[in-house]
Amino acid sequence: MHDQTIEFLDVDDDVRSIVAPHKQRLFIPGPTDVAADVLAAQTAPMIGHRSDEFEALFAKCEAQLQRLFETTARVYMVAASGTGLQEAAIRNLVKSRVVSFVNGAFSQRWYDVALGCDKAAIRVDVPWNTAVKPAQVADALQSALADGPVDAITVAHNETSTGVMSPVAEIAATVRRISPETLVLVDAVSSFSGVRIPVDAWNIDLLLTSSQKALALPPGLAFCSVSDRALARAADVKGRGWYFDFLTLEKALKKNTTPATPAISLMRSLGVQLDRIFAEGTEARYARHARLAERTRCWAVENGFALMAEAGYASQTVTTVANTRTISVKALNAYLARHDMEISNGYGDYKDKAFRIAHMGEVQDSDMDRLFAAMSAFLARHD
Ligand SMILES: *Cc1c(COP(=O)(O)O)cnc(C)c1O
Repeated sequence: MHDQTIEFLDVDDDVRSIVAPHKQRLFIPGPTDVAADVLAAQTAPMIGHRSDEFEALFAKCEAQLQRLFETTARVYMVAASGTGLQEAAIRNLVKSRVVSFVNGAFSQRWYDVALGCDKAAIRVDVPWNTAVKPAQVADALQSALADGPVDAITVAHNETSTGVMSPVAEIAATVRRISPETLVLVDAVSSFSGVRIPVDAWNIDLLLTSSQKALALPPGLAFCSVSDRALARAADVKGRGWYFDFLTLEKALKKNTTPATPAISLMRSLGVQLDRIFAEGTEARYARHARLAERTRCWAVENGFALMAEAGYASQTVTTVANTRTISVKALNAYLARHDMEISNGYGDYKDKAFRIAHMGEVQDSDMDRLFAAMSAFLARHD
């Protein structure tokens, strides 16, 4: 087992000397560990956000994000966490009715956000630990359409609370077939950049994510792609607010800037991290996430645990392990803490009944080796 060393990009020697090499400590589904050079990029001096230097940084990040989202449409970058863009999506794209699929805590949050924005939100419950299926989407949409048009549907690609991934390509195709006018809004907060999501090819109208999960950046930035037809729809929606108004963001984006003061230091980190992502290669990055997920599922089963996620729909970025051996998750985490590592307990009702191992962002095979060795040692002592 060896620590992964990282390459430093655009970092002064004096900064380089104070940052430690990357070694994963956090196996929780966000925030994730940030590579040292990405963290260090935040220490560069401030610049004005109407300067040429900032506009160049913005343009570079925008082009790279479009590549990563696989879209020719725009990607907005905002100083907020992902929830801010859940709210932006609702306020900009839902005139009155939205159908929200709820199969966990974060998809439920999007439903709650829609209610908070005073929209007619129609909640469709899907059992936790299972994925949202195209047939359920078809049924729910058809019954909602009986009462009038549906502006949009919301769905979480990767339900972080349960470790379930839903087939958003098929869901988007189903929505298009049944109700072509209905916009498809997707939360990919904990999967984006760990799993391939070709936004244009899949006809996703809005895909949102935040910085601190698979993107492995500090918290504080959020990103969303917005299709041309979604942007056109926003122009007809009242009560879009100001900070997250897509029309205002669009006007600024055309000038390579943001309407309000951007999080300049975080944007510098973003620039470095996007370079790292493309240096690794997106295919290699997606393959690494798939491999680490498979290794984690194997470790769990080999060690006498069961998997919580419906078979065939397990997340590639976070694995929810059913605590069938009824170990103390608290004791496990205390043991891991002594080895400078941390995993997550089960979410909500699943506290102590499950635990979650995140393998997203910059986590490498060697990090998993270290984690599995420590967890196996813990189990051996507690048999
Ligand atoms: C973490 C998470 C959110 C919330 O994102 P914040 O950046 O914390 O606001 C929303 N959806 C999913 C799927 C998440 O994992």
